[in-house]
Amino acid sequence: MRMIENIITPTPINGELDQSAPPIIDRFGRSFNYLRLALNEQCNLRCIYCMPEEGIDFRSKDKLLTTEEIFRLIEIASQMGVSKIRFTGGEPLLRKDISELVRFSHHCKGIESVHLTTNGLLLSKQIDKLETSGLSGINISLDTLTPKKFSIITRRDGLDLVLNSLHKAMESTIQSIKLNVVAMRGFNDDELMDFVYLTEKNNITVRFIELMPFDSHQIWKTGKFYGADHIVSDIKNQVDELNPIDGSRTEHHIFRVNDYTGKVAVIPAYSRSLCGACNRIRITADGKLLNCLYSQDETNLRDAMRTGKTDMMIKEMIYGTMKKKFKDGWEAQNQGNDNRESMTQIGG
Ligand code: SAM
Ligand code: SF4
Repeated sequence: MRMIENIITPTPINGELDQSAPPIIDRFGRSFNYLRLALNEQCNLRCIYCMPEEGIDFRSKDKLLTTEEIFRLIEIASQMGVSKIRFTGGEPLLRKDISELVRFSHHCKGIESVHLTTNGLLLSKQIDKLETSGLSGINISLDTLTPKKFSIITRRDGLDLVLNSLHKAMESTIQSIKLNVVAMRGFNDDELMDFVYLTEKNNITVRFIELMPFDSHQIWKTGKFYGADHIVSDIKNQVDELNPIDGSRTEHHIFRVNDYTGKVAVIPAYSRSLCGACNRIRITADGKLLNCLYSQDETNLRDAMRTGKTDMMIKEMIYGTMKKKFKDGWEAQNQGNDNRESMTQIGG
């Protein structure tokens, strides 16, 4: 086994040890600078494509990463070239230490931006604290703009709370505000343009996401799947111009409609047509490292930390896992049967 000690030689800089390590690169030449950390599995909604009404077999608190363990993983990742952090879940705003985690990441050397994905229910109350803690971006998940459909899709009420949070987010100094919309045939395919129009005057990005097969009820098999190609052609048919915006590295198709202020993105999360540009590392709420959303192989970083492994050993585990990443999500999925019940067990 390659010993990481050979390539990481801590050198004192201004009296401090420089722990920087080589970037994480896989066998296909992809480099990974974006860490997505799930903070919990619990949620205050029950979206039909994500979690059954009765919830799932939630892991007990002692199985989840502690604040200190998350700090440690962020620090280690930053030394390996990770510059972007996203907190997700479950619902990350249910974690009491969320502002503390944002603040720590914001001040961590090498971390350039800290983001959050939330259902928005609790956001308006917490946004001031998150803003002062240094949050750079918020993705709010919202699949419909009508209260009735909101309660069907999420099995709870709360559209007003989410819209209020969206407004507060737009009024804040937080730079990047995005809406995540899971596109579903027969549920919200008639609302795509209502979401697109939100980008006319508002500097937000509306992201249409393909339904993925991670719910125990497998609703994606029931004809609700609405593919990225369809979403793009649907929008194209209803606007004068849908102008692609060039990004240097992107895992989604991104457009500006006419001369609108904001942007529209389409994420082929199921089609997996953009895996070649993947830069993501995922850690689940219980500390398992995944090299792909569709991977069933997990590397247990929590137990490594709890059994006294050094930072260098943990770096070695991360290099090894990412090196084994498959060419795309199809190959990853074909390695075995997924027995997860919900996206919250991966971190969306
Ligand atoms: N609770 C937070 C939220 O809803 O934003 C964060 C966690 S949630 C698992 C993260 C994202 O995954 C959300 O945008 C959600 O819509 C998306 N998601 C969950 N299950 C999905 C599925 N089966 N297919 C596509 N997207 C899914
Ligand atoms: Fe909760 Fe987010 Fe899953 Fe909806 S998508 S049930 S809000 S974790």
